[in-house]
Amino acid sequence: MNQRQICYLDNNATTQVAPEVVSAMLPFFEEFWGNASSAYTFGKQLAAHIEQAREKVAALIHADPKEILFTSCGTESNNAAIHSALVTQPGKRHVITTSVEHSANIKYGKFLEKQACEVTFLPVESDGSIDLHLLDISIRPDTAIVSVMWANNETGVFFPIEEVAAICRSKDVLFHTDAVQTPGKIKIDVKSTGVDFLSLSGHKLHAPKGIGLLYVKRHTKFAPYIIGGGQERGRRGGTENVPYIVGFGRAAELAIASINDENTRVRALRDRLETTILRTIPNTMRTGAKEPRLPNTSNIAFDGVEAEAILMMLDQAGICASSGSACTTGSLDPSHVLLAMGITPSRARSCVRFSLGIYNTEKDIDYLLEHLPGMISKLRAMSPSDGESAKAETVSNAISA
Ligand code: PLP
Repeated sequence: MNQRQICYLDNNATTQVAPEVVSAMLPFFEEFWGNASSAYTFGKQLAAHIEQAREKVAALIHADPKEILFTSCGTESNNAAIHSALVTQPGKRHVITTSVEHSANIKYGKFLEKQACEVTFLPVESDGSIDLHLLDISIRPDTAIVSVMWANNETGVFFPIEEVAAICRSKDVLFHTDAVQTPGKIKIDVKSTGVDFLSLSGHKLHAPKGIGLLYVKRHTKFAPYIIGGGQERGRRGGTENVPYIVGFGRAAELAIASINDENTRVRALRDRLETTILRTIPNTMRTGAKEPRLPNTSNIAFDGVEAEAILMMLDQAGICASSGSACTTGSLDPSHVLLAMGITPSRARSCVRFSLGIYNTEKDIDYLLEHLPGMISKLRAMSPSDGESAKAETVSNAISA
């Protein structure tokens, strides 16, 4: 199945690499493929391209280019921020994060618990929001860092990052935010927000997979996570991935330019998708707060049906959506995000995330809305009459029927 045949509604999992990004990267595969740390011109001329890209990604979040550290992905950036806070403050072994973070934080937190650290996973309310008072009183003298995501990848719900940053500042505790889902959707200004660390990932903003960044506020102590050569001013070892860094820079320029489109046209597409599903398909509900939320994301429960079954049927029709983070696909457990919001396991197993992007059009939404109601009716007709969810294993029959 090629790209022309798919209706791609899974932009929180990854995004299509923009043609402009591909064009910007190609010369760095074909012609300028040297090592940026070399002493001769063929290699060292690349350093200027890395610095130009650094300026572009810094502009996306209103940072100083010197505050940007290129990494391999959002996961590395999150791990690196928390690791650094623990290493630079050896007496502090307590970390605070939330129970709805991406597995990049949840699993790293579980790992730290086995390394003699204590990790507080803050609970959330039923709409996905956090209790700031609880955050405030959870901070202890031995808290090394607070890490709270900016926008949730499954529900799109925003956390009040400025307020979280203010609480951390008042208690003199480092603050990291995973802002991986935000570029191109909201304006980020690290200076006015007051964060110490911030993570981004290229493949969520139309750059390739395998490139990310960590913003480290000026004068913040930093201990490298990847130890090796002196690249990135000694803060991350490893030969610089010049084509991807250049591509990330170009994607950052495009993200700045697409904020308006995401918040008007894409938001209207998402709203049409959501309101039509909720109005026309019985026993459906949106999970998480309606606002403030990413303009592209809608997470909907289809009571009485397994999301895996819906996704299989959508896939047969060439529609890509998901039941949560791509990083937890294959797990039979319901989403930890939805469970943390107090959603029952059976309802959580019925939730599908639709996440749109700048390449979606009205036709994609027409196509989804044409097919989805019939699929849900078919699956519900097969499901046990006591309202239990249809079992995924019975779905293959429905698909071939
Ligand atoms: N944080 C969030 C909120 C994400 O959505 C993702 C990816 O889905 C990540 C972190 C991990 O990013 P990467 O895939 O670049 O490691």
